[in-house]
Amino acid sequence: MHIGFLGLGNMGAPMARNLLKAGHQLTVFDLSAAAVSSLVEAGAHSAASPAVLAQADVELIITMLPAAAHVKSVYLGEDGLLAHVRPGVTLIDSSTIDPLSAREVASAARQHGNPMLDAPVSGGTGGAAAGTLTFMVGGDVADFDRTQPILAAMGKNIVHCGDAGNGQVAKVANNMLLGISMIGVAEAMALGVALGMDAKVLAGIINTSSGRCWSSEVYNPFPGVLENVPAARGYSGGFGSDLMLKDLGLASEAAKQVRQPVILGALAQQLYQTFSAQGNGGLDFSAIINLYRKDAEA
Ligand code: NAD
Repeated sequence: MHIGFLGLGNMGAPMARNLLKAGHQLTVFDLSAAAVSSLVEAGAHSAASPAVLAQADVELIITMLPAAAHVKSVYLGEDGLLAHVRPGVTLIDSSTIDPLSAREVASAARQHGNPMLDAPVSGGTGGAAAGTLTFMVGGDVADFDRTQPILAAMGKNIVHCGDAGNGQVAKVANNMLLGISMIGVAEAMALGVALGMDAKVLAGIINTSSGRCWSSEVYNPFPGVLENVPAARGYSGGFGSDLMLKDLGLASEAAKQVRQPVILGALAQQLYQTFSAQGNGGLDFSAIINLYRKDAEA
């Protein structure tokens, strides 16, 4: 299939490479010339703008952009995709944005005669490179069925979550819980160690008791508990605190729009904001434990 791909960053570039590997023809666009030339070297064609890409003979367009403002400008802008794309071309936005913006863009696409799916991902840059992402997809089920084989070149779990915007709903709900649970584990681990307990023993107890969760078992924030996690390498790599802050902001914003309380989500957002303001936004999100550790450097 001839696919258009916009947004060749940390996630988009490896995803686009996997589409090439699966034998698809690709036309790409990014504001960064270096990102484009790296994909062109791998076999993609380049387009000079979203408008030119939309007018190429593509059957499907995928976007992987930083935030809602970029998504709105790329789709709805004067020189954006919807102003130039032929009706019938399917559009998939895999960026993480708030559900209401996703619904607004999907509705504009529908009016223009273009089926649209929101398909945010989890799995990080490692999952993007390995082609093992989870796609949470919102939109018409027939469009989902049609595009599933394409998404399968980039991901392992591809889940239909309901109507337009529901992929983003699943993503913000999961990541809000992840932020809250990481802070909970950090608080409990720091308390236990401050009271004289060995971190590894405490983690072992938690992980065979009712406090067990992904943040304690698979991604424990206390250094020395697990190998091959960011806590074991100075909190480098992994999922940046600023990305978690962004997702917690999306959850709070979406909650406000439906007047739904997210008390712990808002508190988690403030804690990550504090951590980011202290200059730690680039550290993995499990480094939030350094807000609690008296002996920590950060
Ligand atoms: P990134 O900043 O590395 O890449 C974004 C790319 O979009 C850049 O190459 C940038 O030049 C390009 N871009 C920006 N505006 C553009 C425009 N108007 N037209 C064309 N290209 C434009 O971001 P990323 O880490 O690849 O993340 C992309 C999305 O995926 C975000 O919404 C993020 O929240 C989400 N996400 C990221 C991760 C992760 O671990 N990095 C995991 C899951 C989801």
